[in-house]
Amino acid sequence: MQDATINCAACGGSFLFTASEQGYYAERGFQFPKRCRPCRQTRRRSRHSGPSGISGALPTVRPYQPRETHEANCVDCGDDMRLPFRLQSPPRCPKCFLQEHAD
Ligand SMILES: [Zn+2]
Ligand SMILES: [Zn+2]
Repeated sequence: MQDATINCAACGGSFLFTASEQGYYAERGFQFPKRCRPCRQTRRRSRHSGPSGISGALPTVRPYQPRETHEANCVDCGDDMRLPFRLQSPPRCPKCFLQEHAD
């Protein structure tokens, strides 16, 4: 691998994406960045202030998802649930579970 120059999708400027960075990204299965570092930081900051009309590519880092999930329905309210394990007893969603133990 060798250093690559990428054109930032946000500001249009080119930035260096070094070979070691490429290795780091590839190792973790990340997609290569489309934006330069300052633009990525700006984006990250603005994401915390809520949706402010930022469009374009979705973030490439996805929230953690269990590899295997089992679909289940709450026995009380019928809500769909996805569980990272298979339950032995009929499942209850957290809402109904709390209700049952409320008093
Ligand atoms: Zn930029
Ligand atoms: Zn329920």
